[in-house]
Amino acid sequence: MPSLASKNQSAPARPRPRRPAPALIFGDLWEFDPAPETADPKIKSRYDLFINGAFVAPKTGVYFDSINPANEEKIAEIALAGTADVDAAYAAAQRAFATTWGRLPGRDRAKYLYRIARLLQDRAREFAVAETLDGGKPIKESRDFDVPMAAAHFFYHAGWADKLEYVAPGARVAPLGVVGQVIPWNFPLLMLAWKLAPALAMGNTVVLKPAETTSVTCLKFAEILQEAGLPPGVVNFVTGPGAVGAAVLQHPTPAKIAFTGSTAVGKEILRVLAGSTKKMTLELGGKAANIVFADAPLDQAVEGIVNGIFFNQGHVCCAGSRLLVHESVAAAVLAKLKNRLRVLRVGDPMDKNTDVGAINSRAQLQKITALVASGVQAGAELFQAPGQLPTKGFYFRPTIFSGVTMSHRIAREEIFGPVLSILTFRTVDEAIEKANNTAYGLSAGVWTDKGSRILKMSTELKAGVVWANTYNKFDPTSPFGGYKESGFGREGGRQGLLDYAQRL
Ligand code: NAP
Ligand code: MG
Repeated sequence: MPSLASKNQSAPARPRPRRPAPALIFGDLWEFDPAPETADPKIKSRYDLFINGAFVAPKTGVYFDSINPANEEKIAEIALAGTADVDAAYAAAQRAFATTWGRLPGRDRAKYLYRIARLLQDRAREFAVAETLDGGKPIKESRDFDVPMAAAHFFYHAGWADKLEYVAPGARVAPLGVVGQVIPWNFPLLMLAWKLAPALAMGNTVVLKPAETTSVTCLKFAEILQEAGLPPGVVNFVTGPGAVGAAVLQHPTPAKIAFTGSTAVGKEILRVLAGSTKKMTLELGGKAANIVFADAPLDQAVEGIVNGIFFNQGHVCCAGSRLLVHESVAAAVLAKLKNRLRVLRVGDPMDKNTDVGAINSRAQLQKITALVASGVQAGAELFQAPGQLPTKGFYFRPTIFSGVTMSHRIAREEIFGPVLSILTFRTVDEAIEKANNTAYGLSAGVWTDKGSRILKMSTELKAGVVWANTYNKFDPTSPFGGYKESGFGREGGRQGLLDYAQRL
């Protein structure tokens, strides 16, 4: 067999014919047959509050509708909690901490967490369908990402519950007591898992409020807690709008509050709780830069950019909503992005082929529409995915803006929708300066062939997560959280657990 060297030497240096790049034509060629998901989400027509291990009617006597944003149809009625209900939830959590959960050895808490994780896995498809119906995200995401990751968080923290002496080497840790938690609508079940799993593993008890538009999987999760035999009061769910969230966070009982949501609400919480001794974590907004250098593998980078901003309709706090691309490859990257947008499937979230589903609510759709209009008005160049959008429901075309400058609102404000703003840079320092020139600091992406540059960028970028040659990768072992106005505290990993503990 000829050696590689001799093969190389003997190969004549034939000039490769340069063929012009084929003009890409997408359209009917790419139509797929409908592939609707058919599993039964087992959604009840009405959900009560979950307090002290049981579903109880709200003292307000009022219920509000949860709708499917893909077609605006009502899917369930959800209880509206009042302050008396929030009081009852905290009383139950306090009792559970004092009498059961706070006294259980870690190995016993672990058994419950493992049971919860396995029960969620058993009902994974059902939960994925419910998540998609209630929130509008594509079924392939809730099926392949949200639900498995939620289960993974319970498995991971179950593993910690009997090993807490290693969570802070050299120190002894203890639970804080009762914690109050409020979560947003973009990853309803996953944010619930990020909040509950570390709190419970550490031995705390919880009162949690999901977002008004996405309470269904939270209340279905209460069924899992019942099935797992979790002692009553360890976890309590109160549902309703922002005012219920304010009641949860401002209540005198919790030793710690954890909030994930917008920076505006986060600031308000800080104002109201200024001077309080409560421990806090705030996971807030983002305006991440995805930075593409000239030596990056461009096709992979384009996939990463698309995943970074169009994943979950851009309803992602760490979305790569700003693309910083080196001037020399900007035109090539833009052309590739446009081609990719032409074949993204936007529409029915329940179709297994859908890439971009429904916007979560009419209010969010209006916010995205207004910010995109501001980009057009400011003179940025707009490109939108072609094709037909469903006539009912809330949808927005995947959108890219080129020719964006740092002063444009679309470069500074969190849009929280499928909208990418493209800026260019010439030098590494300019890329760092532009990436950090934001009030936020949750995440960033770097695309380059050079390891040394990845290390430099990850040191210089003021962001809680820096992904290199990939984007939107998550793992329960890895702490997640922000710099600056993206908040403080971490979720995930050892650091996330410590945020639910006190050192003795
Ligand atoms: P939001 O309006 O701040 O709402 C978040 C949660 O807080 C919801 O449950 C909301 O209730 C509740 N709430 C509203 N006003 C409140 C108040 N005054 N006091 C206490 N709770 C209140 O945010 P969103 O629009 O739902 O979510 C999107 C935001 O979340 C984005 O900014 C995104 O970046 C951020 N986010 C951050 C992370 C992270 O890890 N850093 C993760 C996901 C999302 P209602 O929904 O019922 O009004
Ligand atoms: Mg809904």
